[in-house]
Amino acid sequence: MDNYVKIFDTTLRDGEQSPGASMNVEEKLRVAHKLARLGVDVIEAGFAFSSKGDFESVRRIAEEVEGPIICSLARAKADDIDAAKDALKGAPKGKSRIHTFISTSDIHLKYQFKLTREEALKRAVDMVTHARGYVDDVEFSPMDASRTELSYLYEVLEAVIEAGASTVNIPDTVGYALPHQFGELIKGIRENVKNIDKAVISVHCHNDLGLAVANSLSAIINGARQVECTINGIGERAGNSSLEEIVMILKTRSDLLGLETNIVTEELYPASRLVTGITGMMVQPNKAIVGDNAFAHEAGIHQDGLLKEKTTYEIISPESVGISKSTLVLGKHSGRHAFGARLKELGYKLDEADLNKAFERFKLLADKKKEVFDEDLEAIVQDEVLRIEVPDRFKLTSLNVTGGSDTQPKATIEMEVDGKVERIDAVGDGLVDAAYKGIATITKTKSTLLRYAVNAITSGTDAQGEVTVRLKEDDHIVLGQGAHSDIIVASAKAYINALNRLSHRKNDSRERLV
Ligand code: MN
Repeated sequence: MDNYVKIFDTTLRDGEQSPGASMNVEEKLRVAHKLARLGVDVIEAGFAFSSKGDFESVRRIAEEVEGPIICSLARAKADDIDAAKDALKGAPKGKSRIHTFISTSDIHLKYQFKLTREEALKRAVDMVTHARGYVDDVEFSPMDASRTELSYLYEVLEAVIEAGASTVNIPDTVGYALPHQFGELIKGIRENVKNIDKAVISVHCHNDLGLAVANSLSAIINGARQVECTINGIGERAGNSSLEEIVMILKTRSDLLGLETNIVTEELYPASRLVTGITGMMVQPNKAIVGDNAFAHEAGIHQDGLLKEKTTYEIISPESVGISKSTLVLGKHSGRHAFGARLKELGYKLDEADLNKAFERFKLLADKKKEVFDEDLEAIVQDEVLRIEVPDRFKLTSLNVTGGSDTQPKATIEMEVDGKVERIDAVGDGLVDAAYKGIATITKTKSTLLRYAVNAITSGTDAQGEVTVRLKEDDHIVLGQGAHSDIIVASAKAYINALNRLSHRKNDSRERLV
């Protein structure tokens, strides 16, 4: 059997369905370019039929991102498949995939879809045939496969392969399977579906019991050759299989597994950082591979061993996943050229206008902060360049605060609201509260603050603070981010960024279909 495992990334589809992780088209494009550099085989770019925004993301990624196969999800319905086909039109020849699905478990068919097994089977075959009319590369998923009666599952798989599906993806939709059981399921499929050699077996595992990666691995050992996963394991509920964990398991234990992927592992950490930065979903510090503590050795006996010989306690080198110790890169005497060159090395290709904007911000930071690290540069790009897609109805022009243990916290804010300058003094329980109250008054907005988090981007008391907020108004939930060496200013920027998104979101109502 082939020893190559395809990596199918669904960060932009299932991952984006994480509560609060929605991304705009520009952000999705940036992630997609990163995924291409990472070397994934397939990018599931979205669910074209589900919203205008998703359609546009799939369309632009298909047109602009080179390398991986670009895929759109589609329910087993002709309209969905037609939308996927239209969105994928711009992909290079042989680089587009339609991924269609229908439930096959009795519990889903009976209660949710009100279909008989026969009807679901016929729909699956008809829609795979329909999709094959547009593209050669069709993937089919029997949703809730791990709770589907086996003989029926085999029957459906045989029929869709006969109809032209070249990948059959077995989802553990509700994260219910156990590793040995899920492995048996894959083995059973290989042994009982007559034409299974004409298709690649894929798996899509959810992490409700913390077993997504273990289940995927068990499936691979039993013959699956495509894994659906996401950066940082984000996704519905408890998330999907984590791409970085799957890849590093296969690499680190190739002695036992004998399997390989196309992933450039040095891009894993940068990809993780990018997704964290865009979605605001922080990675837990003890997360394998990409967590802050993943390579931090604390115990004295471990440190002693490491100093003598790294392999005593280190099974993966941090460098191999792209973690390098923060290095001093630039200071206030660095020129625009050096700045642009460093950004390029970090994977950001900016046009002239964006580069100028980012450079101005860099100079301001370099004046305040002695050392500017790669992470600072990334924060600047995130903050200045990646935010421009949402039109800025609200802009902060100045913010001054006074406070302390014995005075009432007060903020003086000046903002542009729809081009008009407004100024206000506001008081609050703290400096951030005062600033937020003032901003809410000036912008005449009534959102609820669901979450407020501040992170230091690098170490040191002069580090930039990165603030992430989550705001809710009516049914809309948005994320906002801002970075600055003063956390009160970073807080205000994050809040205003979220308000701009909220204002934009109200005019671009998107629906979630799955
Ligand atoms: Mn899923």
